[in-house]
Amino acid sequence: MARPVVVHACCGPCSLEPVRLLREEGFEPTIAWSNPNIQPAAEYERRLETLRGWAASEGIEVLEVPGDRERAELWERVVAPHGFDREARCRACYALRLSAAADLARELGFTTLTTTLAVSPYQLHDACDELLVAIAASRGLEALVRDWRPRYPEATRRARELGLYRQNYCGCRFSAAEAQAERIAAREARKAARHAGARAIVPSSLEEVR
Ligand code: SF4
Repeated sequence: MARPVVVHACCGPCSLEPVRLLREEGFEPTIAWSNPNIQPAAEYERRLETLRGWAASEGIEVLEVPGDRERAELWERVVAPHGFDREARCRACYALRLSAAADLARELGFTTLTTTLAVSPYQLHDACDELLVAIAASRGLEALVRDWRPRYPEATRRARELGLYRQNYCGCRFSAAEAQAERIAAREARKAARHAGARAIVPSSLEEVR
């Protein structure tokens, strides 16, 4: 018989591979939505609706942690002050979200907890594992620690194939700014590389002319 597990899910695309692999392992996932970090509100709704639509097609229940939207205020108080200190900010964010998911899991009588955050190469994997283990233990739950990052390309491919909405930043306004800065830096680097390539060609072509 399949073992029940609560899977804290950050979004639909990141749930695809963890759910498939957990089922292969003999677990039956129930999803917990605990993401007061997602900004703005329209983005929060869009990710939740994407997750709900996909989960329904898979026959998976999505439990919204009570008061999750309202917990955005708490997020502002305990996470936002870390600003662009990524390590401190994300640790506080993981702790808030996983604690709420763990509380719900315990209240509903589940014994095992995991998170889809473990599929994204953009997350702080070790910090997330460490907090998952500590938070689960503090509630008498077993933490299912997995490294699904090698499956990220496949998750992306499947999400595209299914036409799921895929966001281009983690969730908070700081991550949106960081992702935008990274895209600009990458664009500039590509431009510089092209420019350097063009310069390298010019002398040889001039020599040919001579
Ligand atoms: S980058 Fe993601 S995990 Fe880190 S604080 Fe922002 S929303 Fe939370």
